[in-house]
Amino acid sequence: MNDLKPVTIDRVVKDGLCIGCGTCAGMCPGEAIIIAKSESKGLYLPEISVDKCRLCQLCVECCPGYQVDFQQLNQDIFGRQPQDRFLGNFLHCYIGHSNDRRIRYESASGGIVSQLLIFALEKGIIDGALVVSMKEDKPLEPKPLLLERKLKSCQLGDRNIVLFQQMKP
Ligand code: SF4
Ligand code: SF4
Repeated sequence: MNDLKPVTIDRVVKDGLCIGCGTCAGMCPGEAIIIAKSESKGLYLPEISVDKCRLCQLCVECCPGYQVDFQQLNQDIFGRQPQDRFLGNFLHCYIGHSNDRRIRYESASGGIVSQLLIFALEKGIIDGALVVSMKEDKPLEPKPLLLERKLKSCQLGDRNIVLFQQMKP
């Protein structure tokens, strides 16, 4: 058993910078990391088995959340620091919502994404859209859906999850 506490992605998780991408688990040569559902946080997060850890640091090196230098990132991408640290840098800012009451009020964030997708599907701008829904019995579990042009209406689930369904005639 390892007595040394490894420098791993534990810190990323503690700092709230883990996005649950799973790269660390895939890279770990010791199979020391599993991605598990945190019931208290409602997220999928990595858990490290210290016994299996070889202290190789690969998980840290591949992690997109480790040592995120926001100042440098903003400078590299936008050439300036954001005026508002919560909004971050942006080029333009708009608000909007669906004009369809059902979509608007049964959707996340006013149904704007759903409405835009419906528009693009109906106008033939896109042939389909790959979206993510939730499983009815396990809302934390993602369920991918491929929407095709024949689908005309949508209903949204909780949060930012889009659930499309066929329009009733
Ligand atoms: S690589 Fe980093 S961001 Fe991705 S799951 Fe692991 S700790 Fe989280
Ligand atoms: S330090 Fe290496 S062995 Fe330990 S958890 Fe990270 S990738 Fe796995």
